[in-house]
Amino acid sequence: MRKNIVAGNWKMNNDLKATKKLVKQIRKSIKKAELNNTRVIIAPTFVNLSAAVKRSKKSKIEVAAQNMHQANNGAFTGEISAEMLKGVGVKTVILGHSERRAYFGETDAILAEKVNAALANKLEIIFCFGEELADRKAGNEEAVVESQIKNALFHLEADAFKNIVLAYEPVWAIGTGETASPEQAQDMHSFIRKTLADKYGNNVSDNVSILYGGSVKPANAQEIFSKPDVDGGLIGGAALKAEDFYSIITAF
Ligand code: PEP
Repeated sequence: MRKNIVAGNWKMNNDLKATKKLVKQIRKSIKKAELNNTRVIIAPTFVNLSAAVKRSKKSKIEVAAQNMHQANNGAFTGEISAEMLKGVGVKTVILGHSERRAYFGETDAILAEKVNAALANKLEIIFCFGEELADRKAGNEEAVVESQIKNALFHLEADAFKNIVLAYEPVWAIGTGETASPEQAQDMHSFIRKTLADKYGNNVSDNVSILYGGSVKPANAQEIFSKPDVDGGLIGGAALKAEDFYSIITAF
């Protein structure tokens, strides 16, 4: 069932003290808010997940991880597995963020393995993808997005999409202050839904939530979220300030 979602990707920000403070502020701000069925997700760094889970108990905040390794355990120094995330109460993981792809060499093939590992461990996935500026300038944005989705997800059965949220994040709009226009976001989201419908049918494409990410702020969230195929946002910078995050959550 399609749901509105606002997810904050905290990236490598907020130490333990700042994590506790921000969770407390978000928790307080949304306590009495009319959320219109909007799911609120935060993704702190690995070391602060436990604390965030603990402090989000009995609130509407859900806690996600920003990444995970594809193996369940073994000689992978510095890595974290799906099992470990589940062990600290995390139920959702972000996979395929453009920073993971660009700085840590995550390919579609690796992401397909991570997707399998997350689903096998019953973790929900927020799967990110999006074109770079050069792709858009060359008019290749749909081809790039289509191949990212196909390569990492199209080996799955339709049923798997019950546990997948898609996040379209044009790389040129992430952390740059430049946002895709609401029309550009809508056009791409509608293309993504059609790509899913062609492969899996309308039952999958109508029910998957597709988030937009890329410099979403209180000032532009409402217009972007008003588009029919946009089901919310993956938020970077603006998720680090409780007031801004709250304005975005309540923008529906
Ligand atoms: C992100 O990193 O997923 C993101 C959308 O960042 P920002 O909102 O800062 O552009």
